[in-house]
Amino acid sequence: MAVTGKPPYEEGNIFARILRGEIPCRKVHEDEHALAFHDIAPQAPVHVLVIPKGPYVSFADFAATAPAEELAGFWRAVGLVARQLGLEDSGYRLLSNMGPDGGQEVGHFHVHLFGGRRLGRMVP
Ligand code: IMP
Repeated sequence: MAVTGKPPYEEGNIFARILRGEIPCRKVHEDEHALAFHDIAPQAPVHVLVIPKGPYVSFADFAATAPAEELAGFWRAVGLVARQLGLEDSGYRLLSNMGPDGGQEVGHFHVHLFGGRRLGRMVP
């Protein structure tokens, strides 16, 4: 049987550095479980990243290993941020790139929140 261990978490990744306050960010929201900030290279009028505070490499890692309280706290924060940005009526898109084929560049789980205009169709 294949053994799938927890992937190594690189403490020097850019989002870990933002969480430690070593690099500035344009903060939108912060609470016990999550930090949300504007993407440095926005792909839409609103492009915010929401990250958990714990050291999770990817969505798969977060989904499989985070305690229920952190899972709930994180996703509640995502919804809160969207509401806070005034996107609830117009709508928005959530996206998380997972691993090499998913195009994930930063090894700390994050959710992209896009909005502020009518978004195009999803293209794989
Ligand atoms: P990924 O491809 O899903 O890993 O997306 C990483 C995202 O992080 C990209 O959209 C980058 O523009 C964004 N990013 C990289 N460095 C920073 C930063 O220092 N501040 C804010 N966003 C960043």
